Amino acid sequence: MWDRTTHDRVGLGSSVRYLRGVGERRAEALARLDVLTIEDILFFFPRRYEDRRSLTPLDELHPGEMVCALAKVISLSNSKGPAPASAILTDGHTNVRAVWFNPHVDKFLKPGIQVALYGRVEYYNGIQINNPEFEVLTDQPPQIIGRIVPIYPATAALPQKRIQNLVNDTLNTYAGCLVDFLPRDIRVRYGMKDLQEAILELHHPQDAESWLKARNRLAFDELFLLQTGLLLRRSSAQKTAPSLIPGKNYKRFMAALPFPLTGAQHRAIDEILQDMRGTRAMNRLLQGDVGSGKTLVALATILAATDSGMQAALMVPTGILAQQHYLTLERMLAPLGIRVGLLTGSLRTEERRCLLDELKAGKLQVLVGTHAVFAEGVTFSNLGLAVVDEQHRFGVLQKNALIAKGTSPHVLVMTATPIPRTLVLSVYGDLDVSILDELPPGRIPIKTICLRPDEEGHLLKLIRERVRQGQQIYWVCPLIEDSEERRADLSSVSSCYERLSGLLPDVSIEMLHGQFPIEEKSAVMRRFAAGETSMLVSTVVIEVGVDVPNATLMVIEDAGQFGLAQLHQLRGRIGRGKAESLCVLLEGQGTTPEGHERIETMLRLADGFSLAESDLEQRGPGEVCGVRQHGVTDFRVADLVKDRKILDLARKEAQALLTGDPTLETEPLFRAELMRRLGKTLHLAGTA
Ligand code: ADP
Ligand code: MG
Repeated sequence: MWDRTTHDRVGLGSSVRYLRGVGERRAEALARLDVLTIEDILFFFPRRYEDRRSLTPLDELHPGEMVCALAKVISLSNSKGPAPASAILTDGHTNVRAVWFNPHVDKFLKPGIQVALYGRVEYYNGIQINNPEFEVLTDQPPQIIGRIVPIYPATAALPQKRIQNLVNDTLNTYAGCLVDFLPRDIRVRYGMKDLQEAILELHHPQDAESWLKARNRLAFDELFLLQTGLLLRRSSAQKTAPSLIPGKNYKRFMAALPFPLTGAQHRAIDEILQDMRGTRAMNRLLQGDVGSGKTLVALATILAATDSGMQAALMVPTGILAQQHYLTLERMLAPLGIRVGLLTGSLRTEERRCLLDELKAGKLQVLVGTHAVFAEGVTFSNLGLAVVDEQHRFGVLQKNALIAKGTSPHVLVMTATPIPRTLVLSVYGDLDVSILDELPPGRIPIKTICLRPDEEGHLLKLIRERVRQGQQIYWVCPLIEDSEERRADLSSVSSCYERLSGLLPDVSIEMLHGQFPIEEKSAVMRRFAAGETSMLVSTVVIEVGVDVPNATLMVIEDAGQFGLAQLHQLRGRIGRGKAESLCVLLEGQGTTPEGHERIETMLRLADGFSLAESDLEQRGPGEVCGVRQHGVTDFRVADLVKDRKILDLARKEAQALLTGDPTLETEPLFRAELMRRLGKTLHLAGTA
């Protein structure tokens, strides 16, 4: 089956098993490095390089240095017991000893042979080269010195030397099969290296400058393919949609607002209404910092739908948030005669049936709910707008299930916290983006401090002070690693609650946990929002969306355990009212260095956009804002922190290419490469 003589049928897409020296075991080891095909080997780039270009004469060896040398073997002595094997070498002027702990060197070395060496100089009864890598010289230039040597991610099953040889052999035989798919015009305009040249350069760089040109070309490839793919998906996803235009109720609502819109809210609403007026379905992302007033923008959007006689859905990730949004919408929309319903998983059968009947009959104009809104059996009479709040908590399929409830409704997804621009472009590059980069006026900046566990006395004093001033407090209990361990989580909240109740007997405290039945959760939240309780001891269920402006103190226990986005979300629960707010990060006993860094970052940065950038730098794209599920940021070369400029260029060129040629007819090679690399990930089948 693995007949290596049938080379004509073996191509870049063939299994690594076709390569000489790759058997089942090695193929498995390669698979663990995500290397399955011959092409994968060509794209399996070094982790780092060693510059071994300059040779050191044997009379210039200094202890501690890594050196490259050429020498002739004068004599050899075998390893005896604990004594290593050694050789005396000469370059004609100077003799030096090399020692090896590998007892088999005498299989390769004989007196009189010329060798290339790379190793560390040490002083041990004289100067010696310790355990050097060596290569017997032939009429070919040496591999291990005189060049920049690639160092690959190696494993025990695949040592460095093996990988180097495997990559070299593969480059020699197959690099010529690489076809440059990048439009010629772009290559020429930017003076890029061609694909084969760039790949060879990455494995065997000539110098730093040439290497950089090669890696930038390959990074551009990845970003350009992705941008083209995303833009292609956008144009193919744009379906005919109902034109939604704000009318009487929208105007009445806006006129009755107790405060003026922020400039950013104005802009965002204009952009959204502009989209919905058209007959192409809107697909827009509303980005805004915590507390920037996204709900109000959503509300304006919803009114444009109901004014046009269509239904709107607002989907949120938690029951508490659904309840809160429902109350807000109900309070604002009921006076206008608009009926709002709340659908969560915990509705009783009878209530649910009643609600769904009304929804189907079109008597309910707005449906607010959790994941329950895209469940089977939920039928709208004419869904014209789907809004998804805290959209990163929902998967693509879940969002699509909601959208499928209407005939191509307009779609608005909202973020919980800002996402760095490079990530927005690469993960949501097929969406239009509106940004709320302005907080409502009059907000007093939140003060953030960090306290150690032994400073609890001070903290309790702060709490009593706030309570005396009629203000309220959130206390967030430490995160339990395994969220499946619901009971452990619950017990940690109850013990925290009991301890604090004991310490603060004169403060009215309640606790809140994700596992409470929804009625109980709502009751607790209602009492807190009404100011009947002063302090809420809770898990991260209050993380998103909760809006109680009178709460001015947020205590986060063991803060180092939380991610930056989550800390920022939690902190965003305060600072919503007129009084100055304080966020206290309690440092846990076992805070990791990364946890420390996050706490430091929180103390330093207040604005979500800068925090998001910092998060991207600290953790990489995969971990930020749940983008991992998209799989589109798994680049081999490109780096979303460093390659901002290249990304912008790729975006610009992708737009230009598709403007001139919307189906990529003139670039069949590029189109094929796009489908091959991203067709599945981006669901591009049939789009071009
Ligand atoms: P987020 O963007 O985090 O979802 P919210 O929509 O919860 O923010 O809004 C935060 C708070 O700001 C709410 O109490 C809301 O009523 C208030 N708010 C929204 N827009 C304005 C505005 N233009 N002026 C004053 N307050 C506003
Ligand atoms: Mg919100």
